[in-house]
Amino acid sequence: MSTSDAPRSTGKALRIGLFGGTFDPPHVGHLVTAVNVMHTLDLDRLILMVANMPWQKQGSRRITPAQDRLAMVEAAVRGVPGLEAGRTEIDRGGASYTADTLVSLADNHPGAQFFTILGDDAAAGLPSWERFRDVLDRSRIVVVDRPGMPVVLPEGIDWIRVEVPRLEISSTDLRSRLVDGRPLDYLITPPVLGVIRERALYGSLTGSPS
Ligand code: NAP
Repeated sequence: MSTSDAPRSTGKALRIGLFGGTFDPPHVGHLVTAVNVMHTLDLDRLILMVANMPWQKQGSRRITPAQDRLAMVEAAVRGVPGLEAGRTEIDRGGASYTADTLVSLADNHPGAQFFTILGDDAAAGLPSWERFRDVLDRSRIVVVDRPGMPVVLPEGIDWIRVEVPRLEISSTDLRSRLVDGRPLDYLITPPVLGVIRERALYGSLTGSPS
């Protein structure tokens, strides 16, 4: 990153990070990203916003019910100062559009500054988002960079880049590990594994901790 790229607080405006995802399931890559972005940009809060209906993923695979994904994210952030699980998109229902979420957050936090945080794949797809110009107007866009491998981003957007210790972990790989019983230790936190077991999510992991 380049802390110099980041607008600094005047001391009054609340600085809120919006890190949206399907979080199916949430893993330590998400959490390492969240705490590092919060620290680097001096955010007051960072919301891991659980997508109700990730419309660009519909039909590509079975998505775990939103309430189960929310329970996993709540377990992931519990006890971590500044991190919160967001349920705004679930409460709104329907397709999840970040532009709408930023309107709701601004209504609830007048005067706050918002930072929409994206991994590199999500960042590359930003121009395809519903009303993406509204997202740019309402927030600064933060892209999480892999050290030594800066991503090529769509032109014309004033990105803030934050370098984090990028961990090569994907929710896709974790779902297949859950199905075939490979280890999940150190990839998913114990409280999240607890929710997966309690709710028998992903069809297989119902036994005792690995
Ligand atoms: P996801 O797979 O659950 O991932 C959530 C975020 O974590 C993404 O930015 C992802 O970046 C990042 N991430 C994943 N693995 C990581 C790792 N190991 N280290 C660091 N970061 C990692 O989320 P998603 O389903 O792609 O959705 C991302 C957000 O985009 C959601 O809020 C969704 O609602 C929003 N979106 C909005 C629209 C719209 O129209 N408004 C359209 C599409 C998406 P990568 O993508 O690089 O993996």
